[in-house]
Amino acid sequence: MRNETIAVHGGFDSDPTTKAVAVPIYQTVAYSFDSAEHGAALFNLEVEGYRYSRIANPTNAVIEKRVAALEGGVEALSVSSGQAALFYAALAVTEMGRNIVSVPQLYGTTHTLFAHVLPKLGVKAKFAQSDQPAALAELIDQDTRAVFCETVGNPAGNVCDLQAIAEVAHRAGVPLIVDNTVPTPILLRPIDYGADIVLHALTKFLGGHGTTMGGIIVDSGRFPWTEHAQRFPMLTQPDESYHGLVYTEHYGPAAYIGRCRSVFQRTMGAVLSPLSAFLLLQGIETVALRIDRHVENARRVAEFLRDDSRVQSVNYAGFPDSPYYPLVQKYLGGRACSLLTFAIRGGYDAGTRFYDALRLFKRLVNLGDAKSLACHPASTTHRQMSPAEQRLAGIGPETIRLSVGIEHIDDIIADLDQALDAATRS
Ligand SMILES: *Cc1c(COP(=O)(O)O)cnc(C)c1O
Repeated sequence: MRNETIAVHGGFDSDPTTKAVAVPIYQTVAYSFDSAEHGAALFNLEVEGYRYSRIANPTNAVIEKRVAALEGGVEALSVSSGQAALFYAALAVTEMGRNIVSVPQLYGTTHTLFAHVLPKLGVKAKFAQSDQPAALAELIDQDTRAVFCETVGNPAGNVCDLQAIAEVAHRAGVPLIVDNTVPTPILLRPIDYGADIVLHALTKFLGGHGTTMGGIIVDSGRFPWTEHAQRFPMLTQPDESYHGLVYTEHYGPAAYIGRCRSVFQRTMGAVLSPLSAFLLLQGIETVALRIDRHVENARRVAEFLRDDSRVQSVNYAGFPDSPYYPLVQKYLGGRACSLLTFAIRGGYDAGTRFYDALRLFKRLVNLGDAKSLACHPASTTHRQMSPAEQRLAGIGPETIRLSVGIEHIDDIIADLDQALDAATRS
């Protein structure tokens, strides 16, 4: 099936007990055992079934199957937010003394996690000078356990050369972990280009309506953990915390996600609520339609801003003079994402006057809502970064980030036009 169809039907036919066609919300904490023997078999992972909703839940299982199918992976784990997905994804392959090599263009909180939180646990993040594969390769050492990038960076809008970055990671015998939140699997399926683990803030385009927090980790099932067993003992050696289970033996190609669930979800418990899973599933049904409109509206906005003398610069990967234009053709089917940044003539002050004058666009820190959104990264999402780190992440003090919504394009442009007027009048 194509992704447009998987988005509507993936992971669910009809409810096995009631034949309900909509995905039921299994608002339950626990599931009864037929007998002591049945309970023991469930805990030994000898039979399939549900035990406790911190580990797994039938509503969440649908979103896990659906997003795994959209991404072309073998299995997925849903969690309570994109950040929880990032935390688990990083912990699952690292230990004290190890490191992750990352591109510098990251979502602000991901940067904080890597630069300030993981180091306190003994896991270092090494940030490359750019998203170029060679810049990542030169940082890899014998303690590196993963390479990380956002497929399309938030807010920089940079498009990573996934195939080349995957080769760099695989040459070093480590997985490529990517955050695919901005393009969604409708524009890009990173596993097709060698990514091993794909994660999402479901909060953004997949949910699509700005109502519900959620995250997900998808395992491609392709990384050969056992070939690199020395590097990944947590997956290939018996786990004392789970009565000696060996994840690669028990879960086969889904070893990584099996460990994320059995260790991190079980002990840390950043669980997605089944009601949230239901709401996010409603959003996913229309993601392909919404992305079409987001992409087209963003192109029109980018052209409007480029042609306007009140605007100093527009950073949009869909323009032929963008350094990322060839990668948009290769990885996004020629369709640049609906996230773009720009700067107004008049610097920081004009930028804030513009921001304050917006009427249709919401002033906030979010993206991927059906509504048009505007964010000032330097004062909000990327505030914790130094000015030098901000520049590497692709933003300046004057940068405005737009997440172009699905409203009528004339109304979107009219709002930008009146706000530019307000910003440049004085
Ligand atoms: C929003 C976002 C996150 C974090 O997701 P939450 O659900 O807000 O925790 C991670 N990565 C990217 C690219 C994001 O845009």
